Amino acid sequence: MSQKAAAAAGPLFTPDDVAGLRATVVGPVLEPADAAYATECATYNLAQPTTPDLVVGATSAEDVAHAVTFAARNGLAVAVKNAGHQMVPTVAHNSLLITTTRLTGVEVDEATRTLRVDAGARWHDALTAAAKAGLAPLAGSTPVVGVVGYTLGGGLSPLLGRAHGYAADHVRWIELVTADGVIRTATPDHEPELFWALLGGKGNFGVVTRIEFAAVELTDFYGGGLWFRGENMAEVLDVWRTWAPALPEAASTSFAVQRLPQDEALPAPLRDAFVLHVRFSYLGDAAEAEELLAPLRAAGIPVLDSVALRPVMDIGAIHVDPVDPLPYVETGFGLREFSAETLAALVEAVGPGSDCPLVTVEVRALGGALDREPETPNAVPSRGLPYITFAFGVAEPSDLPFMDEHLAKYAAALSPWADPRNVVNFIAPDEAVNETDVRRLYGAERYHRLAAVKRRWDPHNVFRRNHNIRPSSAPTGL
Ligand SMILES: Cc1cc2nc3c(=O)[nH]c(=O)nc-3n(C[C@H](O)[C@H](O)[C@H](O)COP(=O)(O)OP(=O)(O)OC[C@H]3O[C@@H](n4cnc5c(N)ncnc54)[C@H](O)[C@@H]3O)c2cc1C
Repeated sequence: MSQKAAAAAGPLFTPDDVAGLRATVVGPVLEPADAAYATECATYNLAQPTTPDLVVGATSAEDVAHAVTFAARNGLAVAVKNAGHQMVPTVAHNSLLITTTRLTGVEVDEATRTLRVDAGARWHDALTAAAKAGLAPLAGSTPVVGVVGYTLGGGLSPLLGRAHGYAADHVRWIELVTADGVIRTATPDHEPELFWALLGGKGNFGVVTRIEFAAVELTDFYGGGLWFRGENMAEVLDVWRTWAPALPEAASTSFAVQRLPQDEALPAPLRDAFVLHVRFSYLGDAAEAEELLAPLRAAGIPVLDSVALRPVMDIGAIHVDPVDPLPYVETGFGLREFSAETLAALVEAVGPGSDCPLVTVEVRALGGALDREPETPNAVPSRGLPYITFAFGVAEPSDLPFMDEHLAKYAAALSPWADPRNVVNFIAPDEAVNETDVRRLYGAERYHRLAAVKRRWDPHNVFRRNHNIRPSSAPTGL
């Protein structure tokens, strides 16, 4: 049945079924007509709303188990949402959304330097708890995203990634509800294939309710941003492109070409400005950091320089990502190199002489520990990629197609250096929506293995409202 026909046919469950679910689940069970439905389904990207037939606000792993059992029994696809920063739209075509926002527990074990984090915790919760013990988890550029979704998608930290690898590499165990509605635990020794697949395969294998991962002993770092006038981007990035690959693993960097709005919340030099934002962080002393950063500071005259010694809690100051929800379209892909030719193409596509209206076009340098397989390998597909790029344009819904055109122009300009692999967290909701693209994202061999795990744990593809790995049709022997 087509999606349209399915929608016209109405949901696969009856009001009695919903009443039965409400009687078993402690948290709210909401339908589109309910007043609290819109808030429960809210996403960060206002252009990608999520409107399932039913939403269950889980208060425990048991609630999640009841919701998954209900969905599987009634032929509904299950989607999961915490902070809502990477939702593949879930429409009312027989789908059930489980929200984890009520599960915010974070426990720190100082003796083992580990954190146990529930599915609804965000990075600011985990950073706050860890800081009290002098620990730092491998958080990303914005502390407002959820810990679990971030970690299952690899988890690329702009502070700790190059020295310590992906957040996924530090996970000890995962508690989840699989498609059969059973609460299980996967570890490197118990259900090791499931454990491997979850870390990189993201929401494809179940709803994760809790994870434990190791943190690093760290209280401070040296970092922040240097903002240059956008007109100087070619000269500054000509220095960046040879400087970045030579940095030690304790240092990380990225840049963003930004056309910022007239926003009073921004520092005065950045309001309504076209800027190049070079980000930098260093896990060492200030004098060493200053020395490392000197060639970049000499590459132009910054209009703003925020690089300073900071507590780990200030990790968000490296990228200064927008916090409030906004309507946008985005694209992202890997880059095999960032050469003089790549830079020339970038400047032509989004530089001062271009008609580019995109708010941000960013390139992150990877490498270091991000290239190395962890002691317990996982399905993260981006090892060995030297760079990733990510761009987004913000607009009212009627102007989003215009932004899409410019995203396509940008992607075409950098296509000679593009790599289909990416950090899974940076896949846009409307990218990797078919099996061919998802296979290209993971590479054929890894995809084949993921599809075999999917067949074992979710043979009917209950968890399909995501960048979907389909169950393999061949016998798996698992
Ligand atoms: C401004 C911004 C900055 C970012 N910076 C970084 C960065 O520096 N590094 C990085 O790696 N990523 C980064 N990301 C990406 C971000 O980490 C992912 O989008 C992450 O999934 C967001 O978490 P969330 O709680 O908002 O996810 P949601 O949007 O709530 O969920 C996204 C998906 O994650 C999966 N998921 C979430 N919770 C569960 C669960 N309990 N069980 C199973 N699957 C689940 C599901 O597939 C779900 O569809 C950034 C995103 C934004 C918007």
